[in-house]
Amino acid sequence: SRLVQAEIIAKAQESDLPYGYQVDVNVGFPSDVATAKELGIENVGLFRTEFSFMRFDGWPTVEEQIAVYREVGDLFPGDITVRTLDIGADKRLPYFAFPDEANPLLGLRSIRFSMEYPDLFREQIKAILSLVKQGHHFRILLPMISRIWEVETAREILEETVTDLAMPPGAVPPMGIMVEVPGLFHQLEDYKDLVDFFSVGTNDLIQYLLAVDRDSSVVGHLYSGYHPSVIRMMKSLKEKADSLRKDIAVCGEMASIPGGALALCALGYRHFSVPPFQAPGVRYLIQSVTQDVLDQVADTILGLSHEKDIRAYLDHCIEQID
Ligand code: PEP
Ligand code: MG
Repeated sequence: SRLVQAEIIAKAQESDLPYGYQVDVNVGFPSDVATAKELGIENVGLFRTEFSFMRFDGWPTVEEQIAVYREVGDLFPGDITVRTLDIGADKRLPYFAFPDEANPLLGLRSIRFSMEYPDLFREQIKAILSLVKQGHHFRILLPMISRIWEVETAREILEETVTDLAMPPGAVPPMGIMVEVPGLFHQLEDYKDLVDFFSVGTNDLIQYLLAVDRDSSVVGHLYSGYHPSVIRMMKSLKEKADSLRKDIAVCGEMASIPGGALALCALGYRHFSVPPFQAPGVRYLIQSVTQDVLDQVADTILGLSHEKDIRAYLDHCIEQID
């Protein structure tokens, strides 16, 4: 709150996180990687590979992809969660002509693109697995899943590629899915045996749950992680993941905003992935709150029915931390 960034970094590094908590980083651009390195962060919770695809003038070959992923892999001693291409809507490639759709956010993007062009997906999986074969601790994360067959198809391609690369069957790395389409919530249990972990993409989840384009200059102000429906959905989602005994991280922006991080901790989340520059602040927040405070925050925010009241309450709580 009143502390400046340098003090927060120092304090956050002074002690370990309480038992069970984990704060990883999101990386996309080389500058993210540099900042994360400076802060001594071990794990990448979200590697947005689409930004590396933007660096090329045409589809990168498997070898070119390997070189990019290796750059990141070599820098972090821990796990790296590599998200497969999350392209479309706001994230375009200069060398691909997307179809002209009235609502690209509801159209050909993300895993849907990979399912439409399985050869490109296969190449990306091959690049990732080549590095797994060389000993890198990569995990695979599939974005914008809304149909069970998308995961079944991805898993088939993953297993076929393991065989193609002459890796032992046990070498299949952990595979997880992003929870960012609200419909997935009601079917989460059906994914139990297909995936190893979940990661909540609150940026898209909020956008689709509230039917608000977050980048809209007209209705963007209606986009908020403090909407009571978002708070209650996040609570149910954590409970459901717990009942399935699966790790559930939050890699969307909600986890990196102080009030959002506090709300998520109160709702039971323990695993976060945030932009490198925000990691010390989130660590410091976690170190500063007691379970009693978290229980009280959960009771309060779950009982409020206006976004503005939840926001004001969380802002007030954050003010108390110094
Ligand atoms: C998200 O949707 O919250 C997310 C982490 O993915 P992206 O912001 O890259 O869509
Ligand atoms: Mg997303």
